Amino acid sequence: MRGLMQDWPLLCSKVIDHAANEHPLREVVSRSVEGPMHRTNYREVRQRALKIAQLLEREGYGLGDRIATMAWNTWRHLECWYGIMGVGAIYHTLNPRLFPEQLAWIMNDAEDKLLFVDLTFLPLIEALAPKVASLKKVIVLTDAEHMPETKLPGAVAYEEWLKGADGDFVWKEFDENTAAGMCYTSGTTGNPKGVVYSHRSNVLHSMIAQAPDAMNISSSSRMLPIVPLFHANGWGIALTTPMTGATLVMPGPKMDGASVYQLLTEERVTCTAAVPTVWLMLLQHLEAHGGELPDLERVIIGGSACPRRVIDAFQNRYGAQVVHAWGMTEMSPLGTLCAIKPEYADLTGDELLAVEETQGFPPFGVEMKVTDDENRTLPRDGKTFGRLKVRGPAVAKAYYKDQGAELFDDERWFDTGDVAHIDPHGYMKITDRAKDVIKSGGEWISSIEIENIAVGHPDVAEAAVIGLSHPKWDERPLLVCVRREGRDPTKEDVLGYLDGKIAKWWMPDDVVFVDEIPHTAAGKIRKTALRDEFRGYVLPTA
Ligand code: AMP
Repeated sequence: MRGLMQDWPLLCSKVIDHAANEHPLREVVSRSVEGPMHRTNYREVRQRALKIAQLLEREGYGLGDRIATMAWNTWRHLECWYGIMGVGAIYHTLNPRLFPEQLAWIMNDAEDKLLFVDLTFLPLIEALAPKVASLKKVIVLTDAEHMPETKLPGAVAYEEWLKGADGDFVWKEFDENTAAGMCYTSGTTGNPKGVVYSHRSNVLHSMIAQAPDAMNISSSSRMLPIVPLFHANGWGIALTTPMTGATLVMPGPKMDGASVYQLLTEERVTCTAAVPTVWLMLLQHLEAHGGELPDLERVIIGGSACPRRVIDAFQNRYGAQVVHAWGMTEMSPLGTLCAIKPEYADLTGDELLAVEETQGFPPFGVEMKVTDDENRTLPRDGKTFGRLKVRGPAVAKAYYKDQGAELFDDERWFDTGDVAHIDPHGYMKITDRAKDVIKSGGEWISSIEIENIAVGHPDVAEAAVIGLSHPKWDERPLLVCVRREGRDPTKEDVLGYLDGKIAKWWMPDDVVFVDEIPHTAAGKIRKTALRDEFRGYVLPTA
């Protein structure tokens, strides 16, 4: 017997409809690229998104067309997402921090036909456009007054373009498994791989993300996503926030400590999300200039491992709960979040911080396991680490054009490329990327674990650990540190600090200080570049 419930396809247009119907006047506040703060609401965002869809259809764009955006988090970028999805096209977020050649490759691979671009990136796009044959038109996200001269094909100012529509449009309806969005992962080897989200996966992911043990967002939240929409599906926040009716505050192009602090306080933000680097900048700003965060309840931190001192500072100095999260572009992106289960509710001090340093446990909708190289499931004992594998309705089952097929097995498990262990209460801890793990005498050493502890040293600003070849042990760890400004730690200081905090055989064989550690476009440490830099380096123990 079939259930007798309605067919109600999970389309992203329903999310903005819901926000506009049930929370019409809830504010969407942005720092504009032009400078001033801008205020709108869900009703207006929907109305303008309808205009976009209407214009796109009129100009011949529709089902399955890839439409790129290269933009900061603002109300205009949000409208574009809904307008594009509402006509059945696919938003394709471009990360402006990638190399131009990589961007051209990605745009050609996706065959982007149209591009919405912020003023900031116009020079970059002027250089790129001639290399992308599919690109027919560029819409600059500004008004006539701020529109610069440009020779880009069919370039038009967004606000002028919108004037051509009245918004009398009905969202297109189609199967919920239709593609809605696209985001490329910048693998450190090989070409970038396209991840294609569906309407269904986006809607389910947003329902999953708002739960109390996940992002915990409701209509009374005031959410500031600092993580850009062009990183890993913008952590789904462009959908989760309207779905809950929460106020949305967006940082535009400014993500420095002072600008973030201004938004957090003036807009009375209760919940915010970004990578650790952003929070380190904010905490440095607060240390230097003083200030409190009276409204802030929750800080969601992910993208790379969150150092203990960041968790400690937010919780014990500023009174905001840290939710350490792990995810991937391939997972829409949420995988796990670190809420506190009753089993750990009585912990305090360092014991609590040790749990909060883990990446937490998956919400409903994410299945997870750790296996050895022969695909045997490893015990959840909090120590045994192996390959982390996941599956679920918002996890990729393939890449665009079937790249990287070897990462998906017959039972749909996706090999994340991360190495992790899981404790008896289900808390997962990333110990490395599979290709960064250090193999010493047949045992694995977690580079991330050592890095996390090293940055706890008051004189160390950033730390990275890589494996260097060793005649006896195969590989041994080298610790690379950036000194904090005005401080001068020695190798012995840093090793002394690590002593007793990690196993003796994990101790780095050497410590070197550099001015800068190389980063990827997503702000993660570029271990490949670091390994290249230290290729010929001879460890004192070798
Ligand atoms: P991306 O798809 O660019 O977001 O990168 C995903 C990768 O970032 C994951 O596979 C992890 O290696 C890393 N990552 C994300 N969040 C965390 C975290 N909280 N701790 C450690 N690594 C993380």
